[in-house]
Amino acid sequence: MAQKKIDPKEQARKDRIAAAKMKQMAEATKPSRREPHLIADGNQQRCSVCGYPFPADVHPSMSVAFAAHLRKAHQPGQTTEDSNQAALRIVREATENK
Ligand SMILES: [Zn+2]
Repeated sequence: MAQKKIDPKEQARKDRIAAAKMKQMAEATKPSRREPHLIADGNQQRCSVCGYPFPADVHPSMSVAFAAHLRKAHQPGQTTEDSNQAALRIVREATENK
């Protein structure tokens, strides 16, 4: 059995890459502290959080539709994980009550 020799320089390089990746992941998954807002995208607007499109002629108005979307999809203090867990709990309760 030939034991693979680890080059300390190669190991240090790998560690640096792994650390950089970890940092990138942490930044990508970290909840945004910025308020959700509309981004212009051609002739429509998009939610800055999830990219949900709002047509320019949305009724009754862009601000009302966006506010309703925020209430429905991005309730303050509620993360995606929380709503997923809540959905799972509802499904579980529904199947248990059968
Ligand atoms: Zn959204």
